[in-house]
Amino acid sequence: MRPTEPSHCLMRPAESRYSRQIRFAPLGEEGQAKIRAARVAIVGCGALGTVQAEALARAGVGRLRIIDRDFVEWSNLQRQFLFEEADAAEALPKAVAAARRLARVNAEVVVEPLVADLTAANVEDLFEDIDLILDGTDNFETRFLINDAAVDRGIPWIYGAAVGSYGIKLAIVPGHTACFRCVYPEPPQGAQPTCETEGVLAPVTATIAALQVADALKMLARGPGSVTARLTTLDVWNGTIRQLAPPARDAACACCVRRELVYLDGSRRAPISLCGRNAVQIHERSRPVDLTALAQRLSSVATVRSNEFALRVALDPYELTVFPDGRAIIKGTTDVGIARSLYARYIGA
Ligand SMILES: [Zn+2]
Repeated sequence: MRPTEPSHCLMRPAESRYSRQIRFAPLGEEGQAKIRAARVAIVGCGALGTVQAEALARAGVGRLRIIDRDFVEWSNLQRQFLFEEADAAEALPKAVAAARRLARVNAEVVVEPLVADLTAANVEDLFEDIDLILDGTDNFETRFLINDAAVDRGIPWIYGAAVGSYGIKLAIVPGHTACFRCVYPEPPQGAQPTCETEGVLAPVTATIAALQVADALKMLARGPGSVTARLTTLDVWNGTIRQLAPPARDAACACCVRRELVYLDGSRRAPISLCGRNAVQIHERSRPVDLTALAQRLSSVATVRSNEFALRVALDPYELTVFPDGRAIIKGTTDVGIARSLYARYIGA
C-alpha cells in the first residue's frame, strides 16, 4: 500500500470497526446489535469512569450518559486516561472534557455529558431510560443512592472501587444477586483510606474499570443474568487476585427486601468529602447562580477565575469553586461548618 492511500478502516468504517469484537463467538452480530442499542450511565468520570467510558465508546455502545460534578486537575492526569494537560489548564468539567475526547474516539456513540452531582433530587431524571449503570464514584453515599435507585427500577449496576494498589468489583442485578446493602448494610464508620491519604496507582483503577466493562458487555449482549456476581478483589502491587463466591442475599435487607430506600427518598444525605483532596462539597437545593455577576461582585475581595462552567475564588487557605446550579466545592478543609460558612459568606445562604 502506498503511504498516501487511505487505509481500509478509513474507507469502510462500518464494516471493519467492530469486527474483532463480533468475531468473538459468545458476542457475535447479535450481541453487537444489543450493545449498539444500549444506554449506559457512568456515575463519576475519574480514574474508573474515564476507562469505562473510553472502552464502551470503542465497543460501540449506543448512548453514554456521563455524570460528573468535578473538573479536571493536574493530579488527575496520572490515571484518568481521557484527559490531557489542556483540560487541566482550562479546568474543564470532567464530563465535558470526556465528551470532547470521546467524540474523536467514536463519533457513532451519542455521549451526554452532565455536569451534575447525583442526588436524591435528580437521580430519577439522570437514570431515565438507562439499561445499565457503571460505578465510577469515590464515595459510599453515592453508591448507596445508586443502589436504592437501581433496586427501585430494576436496573443492573456494577460496583467498583480502588485505593492504593487495591481494588474491588461486584456486579449487582436487582432481584437476582445480593444488592449493595446486602453486602454493606451501613456506610463504613470512622476514617477510611482514601486516594488522598494512600495514593492510588493507575494500573489498579484501569484493571477494575476493565473488569467492570467486561461485565457490562456481557450483560448488554447476553442479559443481566449472564454474569456470575463474584466479588473480585485484587492488589496490583502484591500481584494477588481473589474471586470470592457471589455474596448471599440478606433475607432482611433494608433495601432490596424491606424497600426502605432512605437514600432515594432523601432522608439520608450528608455533605461529601471528596476522594483525592481536602475538600467539602455543598450540594444545597438547586439555586442557579449567575457566574458572571458573581465574578464581578467577588473580584474586589478575592482573586476570581471563571469560565462558562465554573467560577473559582481563591480565599487563602481555602479555594471555593461554584457551579451554575449553585453547587460549590470548598478546598482546604474537611470541616463542614467552615465550608457552609464560606458558602454563606460568598455565595449567600
Ligand atoms: Zn439487598
